[in-house]
Amino acid sequence: MNGGVSAHQSAPYAAALAQFDRAAERIQLDRNLRDVLRSPKRELVVNFPVEMDDGSVRLYSGYRVHHNVARGPAKGGIRYHPRADLDEVRALAMWMTWKCAVMNLPYGGAKGGVAVNSRGLSSRELENLTRRYTSEIIPLIGPEADIPAPDVGTNAQVMAWLMDTYSMHVGHSVPAVVTGKPIEIGGSAGRALATSTGMLVATEEVRRRQGHVDTRATVAVQGSGNVGWGALQVFGEAGYSVVGISDSRGGVYNSSGLDRSVLAAHIRSGGRVSECDAAGDLISNEELLALEVDILAPSAIEGEIHAGNAADVRAALIVEGANGPVTPEADEELQSRGIVVVPDILANAGGVTVSYFEWVQGLQQFFWTAEEISERLSSHMRNAVDEVWAKVGDRGISLRDGAYEIAIHRVAEATRLRGIYP
Ligand code: NAD
Repeated sequence: MNGGVSAHQSAPYAAALAQFDRAAERIQLDRNLRDVLRSPKRELVVNFPVEMDDGSVRLYSGYRVHHNVARGPAKGGIRYHPRADLDEVRALAMWMTWKCAVMNLPYGGAKGGVAVNSRGLSSRELENLTRRYTSEIIPLIGPEADIPAPDVGTNAQVMAWLMDTYSMHVGHSVPAVVTGKPIEIGGSAGRALATSTGMLVATEEVRRRQGHVDTRATVAVQGSGNVGWGALQVFGEAGYSVVGISDSRGGVYNSSGLDRSVLAAHIRSGGRVSECDAAGDLISNEELLALEVDILAPSAIEGEIHAGNAADVRAALIVEGANGPVTPEADEELQSRGIVVVPDILANAGGVTVSYFEWVQGLQQFFWTAEEISERLSSHMRNAVDEVWAKVGDRGISLRDGAYEIAIHRVAEATRLRGIYP
């Protein structure tokens, strides 16, 4: 499961366009608006050198794409991954537009990426790469223009370097140019676990409406990074039994629930969850996705549940921690089998929601307590699930369809009202 795209996985941008086209057709979106909303607004490709610790120089390719900025500044993470390319970044930027719109945040959608295996770099090399990439995309980013955040392969430290580099260029500190940064330099309380906490709130809201009351449901999580590791913590603390978790090489399963302290000790000593046989039986990622659980939370990368393995999924509810983990073909298969999918643009929107709080706090230099963040996050998530649930009603459409209808309608209205310049 490490690396290559299987024959069943569609390219992410084709998947994003297929999802958009399906929703645009259903809501009979005006043809002209359809063309505008379908296309990325601007794309920057940069090729830049980085000096390695041994004195050699490597050339890297990076990207920053703004999909749509009708509703506000562009917002979206930065990904460091060997497979990052323009196609993937375009898809992720488009999904950010819909995510910000479905959450009613005053943002457009963006994404950035560098094709790099960041695990293979020293800390100094990673800092050099980040600072150079930041200076290359400075024409696009800024607190009122485009505000990056962490994604796959990046973290709070990378955001701190990005913020510092931008600030050095403009000559003063600009905390609001980036979110997901450390609290010590203007980060927000609650940001680290925000995506996973939002997943929990969305899951509980959906399950309550489905008539479930117990929290002893079983959960399997694919991925163990910012989102997956966070999901293990927040679902575990809420009383759920997290029975499986994985990384790019495989996973670990324990039918009685994974012991978080055993896994945490293993990670602290430099291990990977896929090697932690002290926590349970070692399994493959395919086996993890096929576990008989109440809730499956794919929280790694896109395209992991596809036409070739959707029939193996036995969970009753899928909560998309990752962006685009279920391909459109798999989505249809799951829906036909009555498996409910809480779509990425809703399920993992807790991260961008607290990023929005962080940005507002940074602009005002006035900071909120962890309790305030937690209450506001829960209320934003609950409102969004309410709206999507009401949109679906008894029309027999999926939660993804409902979420897309709301999001596209909001972006289309903003685009129409602003008109065409000149
Ligand atoms: P991360 O780099 O912290 O972690 C990624 C995890 O996925 C790692 O455990 C890695 O080993 C695993 N992984 C990679 N390839 C895999 C594969 N083929 N099979 C199984 N596991 C694999 O990244 P992250 O920030 O946790 O992001 C994960 C997903 O969540 C991405 O789709 C990202 O866009 C999305 N997301 C992240 C945030 C955020 O706040 N970080 C917010 C919303 C959505």
